[in-house]
Amino acid sequence: TEELLRKSEMLSAVGQLAAGIAHEIRNPLTALKGFTKLMGTGGHNESYLAIMSAELERIEEIVSELLVLAKPQAVDYLPKSVPSILQDVIMLLDTQAIISNVEIETEIDEPLPYVSCVENQLKQVFINVLKNSVEAMPKGGTITVRAKRTEDRRLRVSFIDQGLGIPESKLARIGEPFFTTKNKGTGLGLMVSYKIIENHQGTMQISSKEGVGTTVEILLPALSS
Ligand code: ADP
Ligand code: MG
Repeated sequence: TEELLRKSEMLSAVGQLAAGIAHEIRNPLTALKGFTKLMGTGGHNESYLAIMSAELERIEEIVSELLVLAKPQAVDYLPKSVPSILQDVIMLLDTQAIISNVEIETEIDEPLPYVSCVENQLKQVFINVLKNSVEAMPKGGTITVRAKRTEDRRLRVSFIDQGLGIPESKLARIGEPFFTTKNKGTGLGLMVSYKIIENHQGTMQISSKEGVGTTVEILLPALSS
C-alpha cells in the first residue's frame, strides 16, 4: 500500500507539473499563432516581430529550465571549488546588481574543502538564488554571500538579502512549479534549484521575513581534503 500511495502521489505530481507546463507554454504559443495569422494576411509591423520574439524567448526559457529535471543521466560529478563558482556567478550578475543599486558582499572562509558537483548545475542554482535576491531589492541594499565549513564536514553557502521578503502565507508555496509573484517570472528557478541540490546530496532552506529580507541556506557534503 505504501508503494501504491507513493506511486499515486508521484503520478498526481507529474500530472500537476504537466498541466503547469502545458499552460505556461500555451500562452506564448497562442500569441505566436495570432501574430503569425496577422502577418499572413498582409499585416506587417515591427512591433509584431518584437512581441513574437519575446514570446519565443519565454518558451525557450521555460524549456531550458525544465531540461535540468529531464536529464540527470550522463553528468560528471567532479571536485570543484565553491568560492570560484561563487565568484563567477557574482560577476555574471554584477551589472544587474549595479543597476538596482545592490552591493554584493562576500564572506568566504579559507581554505574551504571542495565539493563533488556538476559545475554548471551548481552555478545555475547560485544564479537562480542570487538573481531572486537582486530582484527582491528594487531599492538597493546589500546582499551577503557567505561560505563556511560546518563541524559535520559540510559546506554552508548562505545568501542573505535585505529585500522585500516573503509573506508567511506564501512561504510554503515557494519552490512549487510555476509559483511566482513576478510579472515576468517563470516560477521554475527554485524548483529546479531544489532538485539540483537534492541530486548533490545537499539541502536547501529558505527563511524570510516580509519587509526585512530573505536567507537561502544551501548545505553540501564536503570532500575530504
Ligand atoms: P521566479 O523568480 O521566476 O518568480 P523562483 O522559483 O525563482 O521563480 O521564485 C519563486 C518566488 O519565490 C518568487 O516569485 C518570489 O515571490 C519568491 N522569492 C524567491 N526568492 C526570493 C527572495 N530572495 N526574496 C523575496 N522573494 C523571493
Ligand atoms: Mg527566480
